[in-house]
Amino acid sequence: MAEKIKIAFFDTKDYDREAFDALYDRDAFEISYYDTRLMADTCALANGSDAVCVFVNDSVDETVIKCLAGMGVKLIALRCAGYNNVDIEKAYGRIHVVRVPAYSPYAVAEHAMALLLTSVRRIHKAYIRTRDFNFSLNGLTGFDLHGKTVGIVGTGKIGRVFMDICRGFGMNIIAYDKFPAKDSGINYVTLDEVWENSDIISFHCPLTDENTHMVNAESIAKMKKGVVLINTSRGGLIDSEALLEGIKSRKIGAACLDVYEEEGNVFFHDFSGHIVDDDTLARLISMPNVIVSSHQAFLTREALSNIAATTLENVRGFLKDGLSPNEVCYKCARLNTCDQKHGQKCF
Ligand code: NAD
Repeated sequence: MAEKIKIAFFDTKDYDREAFDALYDRDAFEISYYDTRLMADTCALANGSDAVCVFVNDSVDETVIKCLAGMGVKLIALRCAGYNNVDIEKAYGRIHVVRVPAYSPYAVAEHAMALLLTSVRRIHKAYIRTRDFNFSLNGLTGFDLHGKTVGIVGTGKIGRVFMDICRGFGMNIIAYDKFPAKDSGINYVTLDEVWENSDIISFHCPLTDENTHMVNAESIAKMKKGVVLINTSRGGLIDSEALLEGIKSRKIGAACLDVYEEEGNVFFHDFSGHIVDDDTLARLISMPNVIVSSHQAFLTREALSNIAATTLENVRGFLKDGLSPNEVCYKCARLNTCDQKHGQKCF
């Protein structure tokens, strides 16, 4: 019998285990699930594994990469699309990285709209009121989405689904993308025009060194009074302190946040019986016009099943066939000078 591929699976939650257990071939894989996140202190758990499977808040920095490579781990398999938590430049030449580029753009785009509707129609307030038999409407006045202008930053898979949903609501759509799609019929404008003209702005681009804190005091100053910001992309796109100031000054009408720049310390954990040390997050959550979900946008049955299937195939393909179309390295990510374009490994 062929040797099984050993995977050390970090930051495991019940829903991960259910999705992977439902799909993986026990004759081909041996998965060790760990609750802990992957970091320098926990890296040794991967000893003897062929691959590690990680998620958005595992910290795959240079130390971890050297540790993994030193133990003979051949592959970092991200079970998500974004890879800003992996130092892919340091990984290059040491250990290969694969990801799940798409699993359900609908899951994330629909969640973005769910947050927006919840916020503008005050559903979060109404839900709490009626559970307490308070049927008053004071303070619940919302606004129509129909006819409002939505600015979409990032017009890839998720941005386009969100665009379609917004179109269904009769909204005007403007968009900014660093790499605009040709002949797409999308109404591209400059980033400043997005800031200046949007009633609602939704972020669907990856986090890079260059666009970190693209929402800051300066860009907020250019926005319309009462603007609603939706971030289901990555927390680092928004300077949280500037966002808080924008909310306190009444410039920002509402914020819908599925991601937060310091989420790694809190998201996915139950702190209900504890004192949270992050004052900025605590202050944001205390605001009546801020809705926070804890990086939940991807969490649908369809997405989890697609993530599991693609991750297992990424690992099998790479370790058995020597290639995965979902390999990523800093060259293909930033410079587009990667060998993978020619159907080879990135290095
Ligand atoms: P995608 O690669 O299909 O699209 C990203 C788009 O952003 C591309 O059109 C690209 O040209 C554009 N872009 C790149 N750099 C940009 C910049 N600096 N400014 C503006 N646009 C830029 O990716 P996707 O599948 O649509 O995912 C988008 C993002 O959503 C991911 O990077 C990830 O961070 C986030 N995401 C979040 C969740 C969640 O659960 N909250 C789940 C999946 C993805």
